[in-house]
Amino acid sequence: MERRNFLKGAALAGAAAAASTTLAAPAIAQNKRELKMVMAWPKNSPGAGTSGQRVADRITQLSGGALTVKVYGAGELVPAFQSFDAVSAGDADMYHAAEYYFQGKAKGYNFLTAVPFGMTGIETHAWIRYGGGQELWDELSAGFNVKGFPSHTTGTQMGGWFRKEINTVDDFKGLKMRMPGLGGEVLRALGATPLNLPIGEIYPSLQSGAIDATEWVGPWQDLAFGFYKICKNYYGPGFHEPGTVASFGINKKLYDSLPKDQQELISVVIKAEAQDQSSEFNALNQSSLDTLVNKHGVKVRAFPEELMMKAKAAAADVVASMAATDAMTKRIADSYEAFLKQSIEYAPRAELGYMNFRAKNG
Ligand code: CA
Repeated sequence: MERRNFLKGAALAGAAAAASTTLAAPAIAQNKRELKMVMAWPKNSPGAGTSGQRVADRITQLSGGALTVKVYGAGELVPAFQSFDAVSAGDADMYHAAEYYFQGKAKGYNFLTAVPFGMTGIETHAWIRYGGGQELWDELSAGFNVKGFPSHTTGTQMGGWFRKEINTVDDFKGLKMRMPGLGGEVLRALGATPLNLPIGEIYPSLQSGAIDATEWVGPWQDLAFGFYKICKNYYGPGFHEPGTVASFGINKKLYDSLPKDQQELISVVIKAEAQDQSSEFNALNQSSLDTLVNKHGVKVRAFPEELMMKAKAAAADVVASMAATDAMTKRIADSYEAFLKQSIEYAPRAELGYMNFRAKNG
């Protein structure tokens, strides 16, 4: 979908949603709940935007009318990064975002999304579900009156879009680049100025020169947002987000008040969508990369190994200093690092070992 189409659609849908909220009062009176879901991205934007809508539609459909979820894109009810505060305060009921956008609330949120040179998306999901991550997340978010759920993984993200070639770490010096979370802190350590911009602001900021470079996700998503029109050098794989996991959050007081079957329904719908959306990324990345190269003249490049090694050393310092922020962050970081160690040990027996063989032997 072209960017302007879903942006236009977002405006129309926003107006419709605003009008329909006036009908919510009688629905609540009949013991039916209308939930507002705010997102950190535009309504119906490919990937995360359509994923949030599918979760809303399935909860509405499968609850038999007991729950109706209305979706608001970034800026329709609250700005992208205020989605957490809105849900925490009860001004909205659910959000679809990525936890690292909320590192201003607690540094521990970074570990629930992506860690430079850390775990892949599959490994991060394993840690959250079966390695103690969800319990720590619940404890952290309970303090903000939020219950969090892991959503899709984008897979390993591309390193980003640059006007000029990046050959050494010195090329990062003075560069203004959109990069959120711990990846942004690694860039800062390498001499760049990282900025965290919501997706709706990235293209205009590139266009105006407010930023020199950006990362977003990967070929499927990046093609849709048109960064190739400004930057032709596309680097990958990136080191900043080796397996980003998106999230949903629900107002905890509301969630605790729901009957058990509705709680389970929400949980199962989000789990199903996590699998579905992750598959869509896997399915569409290579064909999108082909389009970027063959139709739009994009040059796909890899960061030199020496640069990657320097970034890895900087990342280790960034993660260690982040972990020392407070006791809760340290507990999350320690749990993450222990699981990462186990994942590194097992990887040669799993996808890594197999794919290395496949790559060498056709
Ligand atoms: Ca990203």
